[in-house]
Amino acid sequence: MELLKQRILKDGVVKDGNVLKVDSFLNHQMDTVLFGEIGKEFKRLFEKENVTKILTIEASGIGVACMTGQYFGVPVVFAKKTQTKNIDGEVYTSRVESFTHGRVYDIIVSKKFLKAEDRILLIDDFLAKGSALSGLCSLVLDAGATLVGAGIVIEKGFQDGGSLIRNRGIRVESLAIIDSMDSTTGEINFRN
Ligand code: 5GP
Repeated sequence: MELLKQRILKDGVVKDGNVLKVDSFLNHQMDTVLFGEIGKEFKRLFEKENVTKILTIEASGIGVACMTGQYFGVPVVFAKKTQTKNIDGEVYTSRVESFTHGRVYDIIVSKKFLKAEDRILLIDDFLAKGSALSGLCSLVLDAGATLVGAGIVIEKGFQDGGSLIRNRGIRVESLAIIDSMDSTTGEINFRN
């Protein structure tokens, strides 16, 4: 998505440790007009999939997921991060390792909000090593719902999350795929 790539080049800052900071338009301050265009693009890509629900993970995925949900006209559910595993059987749970914080935590979704008849589209802001997306996938599988695919705003193609998930036969559509980035020069190269 050209508009997004241009914005990354303009405002993205490459940090040490393979982290791209985009908090002026995506992760902290949110550009609602850009989010609208992102939502429209995900709608175009997954239009034929009869999506009934969007699932994301708190916190950075929520904004984009909501805008996307508007175009599909479906509810958005976000998995909550928790340190205490809920064992009362009312939630689906999975384990995620945070790329940016290096911590392991559980994510939960109430069983009320994921049903076997649902057709789920996953949405997230970044795909790096794939832990967040894998965690979301297993919530969908546990619910017996159908996973139609994942929409990612920025995929770091030089990390292995994308191939990990795609090799499981899951459709992943990333609006910008970064092939390389350099924290010394600030250079960012996209896959075509
Ligand atoms: P993964 O689980 O694929 O390793 O990482 C995905 C999650 O980590 C995303 O939900 C995102 O919040 C965060 N993340 C991964 N890489 C980056 C990055 O380069 N920049 C920012 N801002 N967040 C990232």
